[in-house]
Amino acid sequence: MSTKESGKAVKDLPHFDMVIVGGGMVGISLALILAAQADWKILLVEAQSMKLASASASNYSASFDDRSTALSWTSRSIYQSIGVWDQLSKHLTGIKQIHVSDRGHAGLTRMSADETGVDALGYVIENHWLGSVLIDRLAQQSIEVLANTHITSVRPLRDGVEIGLDGTKDLGGEVTRLIRTDLLIIADGSNSKTAEKLGIHSKSSSYGQTAIIANIQLEKKHQNVAYERFTDQGPMALLPLSDFEGQHRSALVWVQSEETAEGLIKAADEAFLDSLQQRFGHRLGRFKQVGNRLAYPLALSLTSEQVRRNVVVVGNAAHSLHPVAGQGFNLSLRDVAALGARLNLARAEQKNIGALEVLEDYRQQQLVDQRNTVIFSDSLTKFFSGTSSLSAATRNSGLLALDLVPQLRHGFTKFGMGMATSEARHG
Ligand SMILES: Cc1cc2nc3c(=O)[nH]c(=O)nc-3n(C[C@H](O)[C@H](O)[C@H](O)COP(=O)(O)OP(=O)(O)OC[C@H]3O[C@@H](n4cnc5c(N)ncnc54)[C@H](O)[C@@H]3O)c2cc1C
Repeated sequence: MSTKESGKAVKDLPHFDMVIVGGGMVGISLALILAAQADWKILLVEAQSMKLASASASNYSASFDDRSTALSWTSRSIYQSIGVWDQLSKHLTGIKQIHVSDRGHAGLTRMSADETGVDALGYVIENHWLGSVLIDRLAQQSIEVLANTHITSVRPLRDGVEIGLDGTKDLGGEVTRLIRTDLLIIADGSNSKTAEKLGIHSKSSSYGQTAIIANIQLEKKHQNVAYERFTDQGPMALLPLSDFEGQHRSALVWVQSEETAEGLIKAADEAFLDSLQQRFGHRLGRFKQVGNRLAYPLALSLTSEQVRRNVVVVGNAAHSLHPVAGQGFNLSLRDVAALGARLNLARAEQKNIGALEVLEDYRQQQLVDQRNTVIFSDSLTKFFSGTSSLSAATRNSGLLALDLVPQLRHGFTKFGMGMATSEARHG
């Protein structure tokens, strides 16, 4: 339905400075960053429910499912700056050491927080806790939220965007059929339907792999060690979680070929744990129990356009990465922190926040960070997934080099902490 059909003049439509489409990790984080800076009139639209506590994982936002996320040191700084870190820190586990190994080969690398002079190399949080803290904070802001709501149309205007909505009331505010905004922020995840409506497509190339995630009950304490293990079938990570009901736990991300993953998802718990134990070994003792298993087909997906007049694409809708290096969300959080700062500056300079010049400035600022992070996670995946003896030998010496050359290891650790680009920028 367009404005003409509805018979309403565009200028009479309810107006928002910004409309964020997608209330996942990135969309909500951006809304909170913006709200912490200035008194913006923001509408956040989410297709699913936002009542986390009462919703089952299957009908809530794709972001806040049974996964866990490793937050980088820079992500911590961003959340500190908007005042949610204290709440988050009640639920997260610090990574004191990262242990990288290659199954069947001698290469082994340990990186530690002590060496780097920080209290932790990163922080692991279960996504449902991340969601719970962010949504609680969102409810305390004067941000209008429409959940269970779909975008039916998107129409560029001379000085903004007209958006058609269809949905029900959730956290508050009436659903309006047509609204207009100075800036449409698309944060609705990979294969964005909203971007498609504007003819913005993404290019996706499948890794032919699936990530299986599950929480694993351990016999031994993880001692705040994150394990990254490369096997001939794909990488696996075990990230430290806090104890639950007296049981030690780690969060598993296990990357496999699509066919093998299908079998592992269907396997009985005992058979699954046996295969995992065989692949990982006994560093954490016996694997005692496995929680809910979920599967994610993996692809590198990049949007054709991140900015357009009155439109910006962020999060997985802009770039969706292989999870091997735990970089996707951390990169997106740096993006939206930069975007928030640029929009705030535009306001202070009395510039139009939807002006291409402003949005292009943001894109330029994040270009190097995005390119480096995409290349890093893509090459890491390819480098460590070869099965030939040559690539095994190269992998081996690569890991050994990381272990033996402190500067290399230092650089690798800093990249994982999300600091590489700011260092590159500053000198
Ligand atoms: C197995 C795995 C492990 C990972 N581990 C890490 C890690 O350790 N560290 C890290 O940094 N990153 C990690 N990532 C990446 C991280 O999960 C993503 O970067 C993050 O989910 C992106 O968030 P998003 O909000 O952009 O998209 P999503 O999480 O996909 O959220 C999109 C939101 O938009 C909503 N939506 C969809 N369509 C519409 C619509 N038309 N209208 C309104 N709303 C809509 C959805 O319901 C959802 O709430 C991992 C990814 C995977 C698969």
